[in-house]
Amino acid sequence: MTRKFDPIASMAGARHEFGEHGGVNVSIEASTTFTVMAAELMPRIFHGEGGPFSRDSEGDTGGCYLYGRHFNPTVFNLGTMLAAMEGTEAGYATSSGMGAISCSLLHLCNAGDRIVASNTLYGGTFALMKDLLPLKCGIETTFVPIDDTEVVEAMIREKRPKVLFAETLSNPTLRVPDLPRLAEIAHRHDVTFIVDNTFTPLILSPAQHGADVVIHSLTKFVSGASDVIAGAVCASRDLISSMMDLHTGPLMLLGPTMDPKIAHELTLRVSSLGLRMQEHSRRAQTFAERLRELGAAVEYPGLPDHEQHGLMRSLMDERFGFGGIFTIDLGNLERANQFMEILQNEHSFGFMAVSLGYFETLMSCSGSSTSSEMAEEDQVAAGISPGLVRMSVGITGTIDQRWEQLEDAARRVGVANTVPA
Ligand SMILES: *Cc1c(COP(=O)(O)O)cnc(C)c1O
Repeated sequence: MTRKFDPIASMAGARHEFGEHGGVNVSIEASTTFTVMAAELMPRIFHGEGGPFSRDSEGDTGGCYLYGRHFNPTVFNLGTMLAAMEGTEAGYATSSGMGAISCSLLHLCNAGDRIVASNTLYGGTFALMKDLLPLKCGIETTFVPIDDTEVVEAMIREKRPKVLFAETLSNPTLRVPDLPRLAEIAHRHDVTFIVDNTFTPLILSPAQHGADVVIHSLTKFVSGASDVIAGAVCASRDLISSMMDLHTGPLMLLGPTMDPKIAHELTLRVSSLGLRMQEHSRRAQTFAERLRELGAAVEYPGLPDHEQHGLMRSLMDERFGFGGIFTIDLGNLERANQFMEILQNEHSFGFMAVSLGYFETLMSCSGSSTSSEMAEEDQVAAGISPGLVRMSVGITGTIDQRWEQLEDAARRVGVANTVPA
């Protein structure tokens, strides 16, 4: 019997990196360049030997570092923890989620190659694929409804892309893609499957369902404090190594380097991620259920009538719930704004701000903020209506106190009448 992948056990089983003087925490290696004890080592490192990813005939790593933009021990340690979380061979932490995404795409696609991607992506990823990549690199993307696997396969047949790109929960519509089926389709056509797991760390482990590359914006739940911008790419050792190649690797040459001080901070937060995800999910589930009872147009994968509730249940690690994000459609922008203003300015329930994964609640009207890179017809195609508010549910205050605030705002703007016809 194969044992199910357990990200918590996997992380605990990874080597614990001690500080330089035996400190229980990893040291901050605040150096941009590294010495070698023998001069003959230097040219070998330039040929890719002796580095943290290389293996000698005994299978040991060299542990040699060269230059901070290439590899830093503190940053490397964070990447290794994230690889353990995702169950991939290797991981590399970057200065932003967009750095991880753009480097992965530029590594896997040459000029003239194509991408097939979900039509409900994070706004920055969408703009990268729709505007920058075709303009600067001649890389064209075809956007598809990612939950319609027949359309996805037909497009892959027609466009013969290098990459299939999806998010574990579409933003902001919270659709769940059928990861195993998409991976099977991608691999049958020799396509690399990239999955952005920013919305569902620990809840979903895309590499275990066939994804070749798993992306994170660590800016969100992994940080949990809305204080740093950071990202990561998790994949096979071969792929990460080639992305770091001194001559052709985007991670080396485009400079999405994470500062070791940031890596140190994030390293200390990864161990509490599971506890935090449980609480984000528990509260989002409670509020989504109660708002639904009031008659509000709520979408949350943890609601039994969500279109992919069963699918998500079959893929997820149930200990961490269905995630910290739900949406509520207030019918129009005016009512959405009124709802958010009551919640922020009268109740201190949360903040009108973009982003997600913060310990406080963040609320934004997707159509006029994070998805505003999309043209109106693209928004309609993706199911983003003007009154749609995305809530990233925080973990402060008591549930009863927060529900009282939420219920008051909901009743005052009249949510019971806002279910779109
Ligand atoms: C925020 C986000 C990104 C971009 O990450 P940054 O760290 O802001 O560069 C990518 N994908 C998703 C799903 C996100 O939410």
